[in-house]
Amino acid sequence: MTSTARPPSLRLTKALGESIASGHPWIFDRALPLPARGLPSGSLALIEDESGPLAQVFIDPDSPIRARVVERNVDRRIDAAWAHSVARHAAQRRARDPLLTGCDGIRLVHGEADGCPGLVVDAYAGVAVVMFDGRAAAAFWTPLLAAVLAGLGDGGASFDRTWVKGDRRGAAPYPIGEPPPSIIEIGEDDARFGVDVVGGQKTGFFLDQRDNRRLVATHCAGATVLNLFCYTGGFSLKAALGGAARVTSVDSAPRAIESLVDNLRRTGLSPHGHQPVCADAFEFLRQAHAQGRRWDLVIADPPSFAPSERTKSTALRGYARLVEACLAVVEPAGRFALASCSSHVTEGDLLGVLAGVGATDRMRRSHSGWRGELRVRVAAGAASDHPVVPGFPEGRYLKFLLCDL
Ligand code: SAH
Repeated sequence: MTSTARPPSLRLTKALGESIASGHPWIFDRALPLPARGLPSGSLALIEDESGPLAQVFIDPDSPIRARVVERNVDRRIDAAWAHSVARHAAQRRARDPLLTGCDGIRLVHGEADGCPGLVVDAYAGVAVVMFDGRAAAAFWTPLLAAVLAGLGDGGASFDRTWVKGDRRGAAPYPIGEPPPSIIEIGEDDARFGVDVVGGQKTGFFLDQRDNRRLVATHCAGATVLNLFCYTGGFSLKAALGGAARVTSVDSAPRAIESLVDNLRRTGLSPHGHQPVCADAFEFLRQAHAQGRRWDLVIADPPSFAPSERTKSTALRGYARLVEACLAVVEPAGRFALASCSSHVTEGDLLGVLAGVGATDRMRRSHSGWRGELRVRVAAGAASDHPVVPGFPEGRYLKFLLCDL
């Protein structure tokens, strides 16, 4: 929130000076007791330790992430001019990114990594879609939103409508403006997708997989491809455009499968080379294995298995089960791509899962002659409009591993 009064100072109970200086934007509840009379959600505060003030933060009394750093310069006024400047820089970074050429679905603001904690702004063919990560972020950013949008425009982003989708954790209590058209068509290189920004997942599309979709396309010439958890067909369309002989796409959501079929048509791809399947991915894999079906490339991009650190070991067992079921339907000498969007599961964790699964006797039996070692050929993350701050590894939530059998 903007105000002319100096924000209240709060004393940290842990030594976080170095972490904050290196760009880590989160302060957890155990490091920051709040005053008994409380502070409003999303209100600005100054945090300090014995060496003095460290950063300006907004407060989230309802979350274990008790405060998020908005500015390390403790003297800078947090007002419309500040928000305009931060947003303009974010848009300028996109404007000079060659990997975004030919795409009109772009993440303009990627939260913490763009200096805008808790704020996402995606642009879909002229419509900016705003999403907040929680109530405190909504309360902090809502009064600054006009300045953010103006800054994005001045930084080179082009959009003429805005839709505030709301808070990603719940209903949308902060919509401003008329809802946009229910489906907005975007281009991603040679593929075209209809994006449902109102009813779709996240802001409507998984922009974060763009560069991985491009990578997959280069591995598909003449291949049979199975895309599990396909949503609206991101990897499927790129596989078909990359010359796949046949693509099978599986998602448990009927609307996702309908959109995929629609997106094939939008892109001008024949539905004949494509098998859309509305099914549970695990059940599909079980049946496919029983029928002896196999594919040259299997892609699995499941929803997050680990919503918290506490659920991590269950999540890793889930990944192991998924990987094992996928590998059982990969052709000998085929390829397997695994994505994980759980920020609690690191790339190292996933490599551990792949190592463990590859070594099982069952795998050796089902792939005769195979020595049980996968080769990771590409280890990637999210697309270039989803940057990562080196001092904030938690921001590297998406991992993508392309392996050879
Ligand atoms: N790869 C996609 C994004 C995947 S999002 C892209 O690039 O656009 C995860 C998808 O998994 C969602 O569409 C959801 O409907 C689907 N899903 C969740 N649980 C599933 C299950 N058990 N079986 C099949 N699909 C599932």
